[in-house]
This record gives sequence, C-alpha cells and structure tokens, in this order.
Amino acid sequence: MRLTEQEIATVLAALRVFQNLSEYENGIPEEVSDYFTEYVKLNDNQIDQLCERINNSDARPEDYSRCIFCRCLTTYLFLDRNGHPVCDSCWDERLR
Ligand SMILES: [Zn+2]
Repeated sequence: MRLTEQEIATVLAALRVFQNLSEYENGIPEEVSDYFTEYVKLNDNQIDQLCERINNSDARPEDYSRCIFCRCLTTYLFLDRNGHPVCDSCWDERLR
C-alpha cells in the first residue's frame, strides 16, 4: 500500500499524539476504545518502532516514478485509485 507524504505525516503525527495520551485509562480515549477490544495498545517503545518502520517502508512514495499517463518522471506524485503514480499536471487535467 502506498500513502502520500501528507498521509504518512498524518499517520505519524496521530501515532505520536496517541503515544502521549496518559490522562485516559490505559492511554486509550473512549472514542477509539473499540479498536482495542481484542488487542492491547502498543507500548511507547513499540510505537517508536512502528513510526520508524512507516518512515522507512514502501508505504512512502518512491523518489522517482513514471506518471501512468504522460510517462514523465515525477518526484511529486499523486496516486490514482489503483495506487498508480500520477504527475501533478495530469492529476490536475484528468483526476481532480
Ligand atoms: Zn503525467
């Protein structure tokens, strides 16, 4: 699964906020407690490791990819609904 840099930043930020919730019982706010009916929340160390894995994983877009429409090499890419890279001008023309 590929995520945009914006999505990765959001996931990492959410994990850091979540990591520092101590005012709630078990560090889990009521609104998201349904996610933890079967699993225990990761500890601080495990969240650190997860953030590092997300940072270094292939979830991150490749530095250079070919746009599926114009085949240009692009560093700033969007992904179509099937996860294929799309350059920003094709995105504006075709998919926005
Ligand atoms: Zn293109």
